[in-house]
Amino acid sequence: MARPRPLVAGNWKMNGTKFNLADLDAIKSGLRDVERMDVAICPPATLISRSAIMALGSALMIGAQDCHPKASGAFTGDIAAEMIADAGGRLVIVGHSERRVGHGEDDVLVRAKAEAAWRAELLAVVCVGESEQEQQVGLTLAVIDGQLAGSIPDGATAENLVVAYEPVWAIGSGKTPSADDIGRVHAHMRTRLTERFGGAAEKIRLLYGGSVKPDNAGPIFKIANVDGALVGGASLKPEDFLAIVQAVP
Ligand code: PEP
Repeated sequence: MARPRPLVAGNWKMNGTKFNLADLDAIKSGLRDVERMDVAICPPATLISRSAIMALGSALMIGAQDCHPKASGAFTGDIAAEMIADAGGRLVIVGHSERRVGHGEDDVLVRAKAEAAWRAELLAVVCVGESEQEQQVGLTLAVIDGQLAGSIPDGATAENLVVAYEPVWAIGSGKTPSADDIGRVHAHMRTRLTERFGGAAEKIRLLYGGSVKPDNAGPIFKIANVDGALVGGASLKPEDFLAIVQAVP
């Protein structure tokens, strides 16, 4: 069985103005050997349209960091998945811990957002991951089970779903789980997805996220069932992001 096509996706979070489009251009121009993988940047919503225009004709996909479950309506400040698609976005991150924790988003809402992504024909990147406290008391796999079951809608396929395992305590901290721990969680996620979605789960990309940098990307990508990375801070530096992309085996 061929492995899933790797994906390295950058999450710029609430960083970037029009001046950072030069960074996007540098990433686009620096991509090499991209026939073997997918590469994406999720800039802030204000830059999606311009980024998508810049990325036209290149291997770089542009995405969003969140969406609302509804297609339109009185939801001040929110963005519909259809608007992301209209702006040229091809994927959307849902359930990032900065949304789950910082905005009180639960699995029911994350699932509705993933359904909205599919309605708009976007790839949904569903994030899961345990807090430091949960990790310390051995609850990692139980938390992952709950989030996978609650946040992923029925009908997931390798074409519409990517799952990102992002331990909350590893995000932006410089800390990463051991290779054994990442491998254990990713194998567990593959098993759970296969139980639910059958053979389709073999090709669903499972990304690791949390302090991925040029110097640890290579070893992380060698772990079984790690099909790429969701990269925060390092995606803001084109040379670092490109080095991570190049580390994909
Ligand atoms: C993230 O926020 O998705 C992330 C992985 O951040 P960082 O790479 O900065 O830890």
